[in-house]
Amino acid sequence: MSANKEKLLVSACLLGKNVKYNGKNNCIDLEKIKKYYEIVPFCPEVEGGLETPRPPSEIISFDPVNVINNSGQDVTKNFQEGARKALELCRKVGIKKALLKERSPSCGKYQVYDGSFSKRLVNSSGITATLLKEKGIKIYDENELDKLC
Ligand code: SF4
Repeated sequence: MSANKEKLLVSACLLGKNVKYNGKNNCIDLEKIKKYYEIVPFCPEVEGGLETPRPPSEIISFDPVNVINNSGQDVTKNFQEGARKALELCRKVGIKKALLKERSPSCGKYQVYDGSFSKRLVNSSGITATLLKEKGIKIYDENELDKLC
């Protein structure tokens, strides 16, 4: 019964939703996870008011936070709003764990692109992943499914 299962926030693109910047998804097999958790899909960038498809964005500064898209448009507020809404949802429905897509400027847990739009990675987290971590939500990426079972 799903009512008895723990809730898990999941990057919507990992569930096959076409919410990625290019209008596609990052669908992976989550059948194993669904046995243990009630899945709550969420895309911070869409919830933060950005359209799909949209230009790709990268974090150019972490402190203070500054996110721009590849046209140079400042989308920091959208990313912060998406993160705020993710936290609000977690608190509202009692979510304590999140499975988030690695390397995304919103969802990345370990690495994100460095803001130069040249495919270079840095060891840091996306805006939503950072906020959720700070507030005590445990984050997993798509390579850590075993840790969730
Ligand atoms: S913001 Fe997160 S959920 Fe939305 S497309 Fe990017 S990685 Fe997927």
